[in-house]
Amino acid sequence: MTRTTDTARLPLLLTELRLPTVARLWPSIGDTADTEGWPAARTLATLLEHEVAERANRRTARHLADARLPAGKTLDTFDFAATPMVSLARINALAAGDSWLDSGTNILLFGPPGVGKTHLSAALGHALVEAGHRVLFTRTTDLVQQLQTARQELRLAAAIEKLDKYRLLILDDLSYVRKSQAETSVLFELISARYERRSILITANQPFGAWDDIFPDPAMTVAAIDRLVHHAIILEMNTASYRQKTAQARITDITSSADPSPSN
Ligand code: ADP
Ligand code: MG
Repeated sequence: MTRTTDTARLPLLLTELRLPTVARLWPSIGDTADTEGWPAARTLATLLEHEVAERANRRTARHLADARLPAGKTLDTFDFAATPMVSLARINALAAGDSWLDSGTNILLFGPPGVGKTHLSAALGHALVEAGHRVLFTRTTDLVQQLQTARQELRLAAAIEKLDKYRLLILDDLSYVRKSQAETSVLFELISARYERRSILITANQPFGAWDDIFPDPAMTVAAIDRLVHHAIILEMNTASYRQKTAQARITDITSSADPSPSN
């Protein structure tokens, strides 16, 4: 009698407490507990462990969606043999997060088009979200545009503050930003606001020498670079383009399979 009353009340109580995993699992785990004579503490701990684990999974899934990382660009799919100057060990250490994120250290990823800057930064972002950190991936030009709109609407400070919830902001393709197209001092405001507090990862085709085209005046360029590099890890990826290499490999494959027995 009491048992059926309890059974009827449980779904309501579990909904009220927002414990969907316990609600889903208690009938089967309850059965096991009954037949095997588990102590109450063990039954309760088993159910709650499932709830905690699923809650963490749901949080990670939410943060991954919110990070807007390009799909499929993870460390698993990144070929480290192609980029001898960035080792898997180094990137794995960064992917653990913590100390460099705590000090607001930046990462600057330089290299010509096609060497894997976007892929590697997205992969690092992905790993950091899985380690429990909030990350936002954006093309730098998109973010500059958003911040400009915020400035026009007199809410730039609030917009920059809103980005504080992200421990790492990935600004892809900084060198595509042109001061002629936009009021890029918003970018400087962002860099200043995050300085020594929140990390930024920047990818760029052009080294610092070419950054005069990005900021409104040379003094601001120097000040921006100064803040970015004060605590920074600089990775130069000066290999051949991975796109061109794989395209070349495909061409070689096609030619060698068309001619399986080359003379001599
Ligand atoms: P970048 O941002 O430097 O221009 P991308 O990251 O966009 O280069 O890389 C170009 C293409 O080559 C992408 O499809 C990317 O996934 C792939 N790629 C680049 N480097 C690697 C690598 N080391 N391993 C696997 N794929 C790579
Ligand atoms: Mg890129």
